[in-house]
Amino acid sequence: MFDLLIRGGTVVLPGTDGVAADIAVREGRIAAILAPGEAAPAHETLDAQGLHVLPGAIDAHLHLGSGKDISRPRLPADAAAETAAAAAGGVTTFIPYWLGAEPFETAFDEVRAVTEAGARIDFGYHFIISTEAQLAALPRYVRDYGVPSFKLFMNNRGGEGKRLGLPDIDDGFLLRLCEAVAAHGALLCPHPENIEAAWILRDRAMAADPEGKGGLASWNASRPGWVEAEAVQRVGLFSRVTGARLYVVHISSQAAYEAAVQARALGTDITIETCPHYLTLDETSSIGDVGKINPPLRAASDSAALWQGLLDGGMDTIGTDHVHRDISAKQGGIWQASPGCPGLQSLLPLLLSEGHHKRGLRLGRIAALCAENPARAMGLAARKGRIAPGLDADFAVVDLNAEAVVRRQDQHSAAGYSLHEGWSLRGQVRHTLVRGRFALREGALVPAAVGTGRYLHRQPAIA
Ligand SMILES: [Zn+2]
Repeated sequence: MFDLLIRGGTVVLPGTDGVAADIAVREGRIAAILAPGEAAPAHETLDAQGLHVLPGAIDAHLHLGSGKDISRPRLPADAAAETAAAAAGGVTTFIPYWLGAEPFETAFDEVRAVTEAGARIDFGYHFIISTEAQLAALPRYVRDYGVPSFKLFMNNRGGEGKRLGLPDIDDGFLLRLCEAVAAHGALLCPHPENIEAAWILRDRAMAADPEGKGGLASWNASRPGWVEAEAVQRVGLFSRVTGARLYVVHISSQAAYEAAVQARALGTDITIETCPHYLTLDETSSIGDVGKINPPLRAASDSAALWQGLLDGGMDTIGTDHVHRDISAKQGGIWQASPGCPGLQSLLPLLLSEGHHKRGLRLGRIAALCAENPARAMGLAARKGRIAPGLDADFAVVDLNAEAVVRRQDQHSAAGYSLHEGWSLRGQVRHTLVRGRFALREGALVPAAVGTGRYLHRQPAIA
C-alpha cells in the first residue's frame, strides 16, 4: 500500500523532457515509477491528467532574514512567509545565505529551530565567511553542521562590508579560504566584483548623474559587467590553483558569463548560476528604481547571452537571489535605494513562460537548472533533485498552458511586490509537494505545511 499515487501526468524523469508515468510515494520518498495506469493501491491519488510533474525546484541562492534585515530569520513567521512564496513558485528546498560576523555555531541551534518552526519546505544554510574565527571553524561547519558551501564577498574591501555589518577581506583571505574549501571537499560561492574599479566608475557615474535620473542605466554604469568578469577570472584562477570547487553566484553579464565559461575550459571546477531577473529584465525596463539589484540589471544583449547559456548547456543553475525587504527600501533615488528583489514565487512560472514557451527551453533543461544541478553542487544529490526511486518525493506539478497575470496582492513574500507585476505568465504551479506532503494544492497554500520543513545536513563532495 502506497501513501500517494500521482496518476496520469507527464513526468520529467532524469534525462527526459517528460514521459507518461505514474509515481508511487511511500513514507515521504519516491517508492516506484510505474507504467501509466499500472495497478497500485494507495491511500490517496492525485489526478495529474494534463499536468507535468517536475522535480521540486531547489533554490540555492536567497536571503532569509526579518523585516529589513536580511542576515538571518528571527521569527518562525519569517520562514513561513518566504517559504509560502517558495511553495507557490514550485520550490521545495532552499538554501539561504546566513550573513553575520559572529561565529555561526553560537546561533546555529536557534536559527535552525526558528526556521524549522515556520518552514513549509526543506532548507539548508550557506555561511558567509568574513572573519578569522569563521575561517578557522570551516572544517567543523562542514563536518558537524552539514554546511559545505561558503560565500565570500570579494567586494568587501575598503569598508565596503560595513553596509552589511561585515569586516573587510583581501585576496590573502580568499587564498586561505580556497585552501580550506579544497581540503574539506566544500564549495566556494563568491560574489564576484572588483570593487576598487567599481568605486572609480561609480564616482564618475554619480558626477554625471547626481540625481540618479538615469535610473537603472546609471546604476549599471556604476558597476558594469567587466568588473564582475574580472573577479570571476581572478577567483577562477585561485580555484584552479588550490583545487577549490567553485560556484559563481548571480552571473548577470555576458562578460562575466564568458569569463566563467573560459575558467571552465582552463580546468576550473565551476558551477555557473544566473537569476531570473537577469534573463527577463534589463536596464531599459520601465520598472524604475525598484529594479536596483547588485549586480545591476544589464543590457538586453547580456540577457540574450544568458538565455543562450541556458539553451546550450553552459549555464548550470538558476538561483533567485530572493530578497524580502519591502518596497519602502527602494526610496530615495537610484543611488540611495536598497539593492535586491523578491523572486521565489515567480521562479517556475517565469522559466516556463519566458523559457519554455517563448524560447524553446526544454523541460529537461529546466529540471536540470532548477533541481538536479543545484542538488549536485550543494551536496543534496543523494536525497533530492531528481524524480527517481529512493529520493525524496519533492515535486512541482505544473500546468504548462494555464496563464495568469502577476499581481501585487497575490505575493506571499514579506516583500509584497514583484518586478514582474502585470506580466501574463503561461505555465503555472498547481501543486507543490515536499516529501510527499502538499505545501501548495490546487494553487492554494496548505496551512498545515507550516513547520513541516526540515533542516538538511548536506554532504561535502569528498569525505
Ligand atoms: Zn544574494
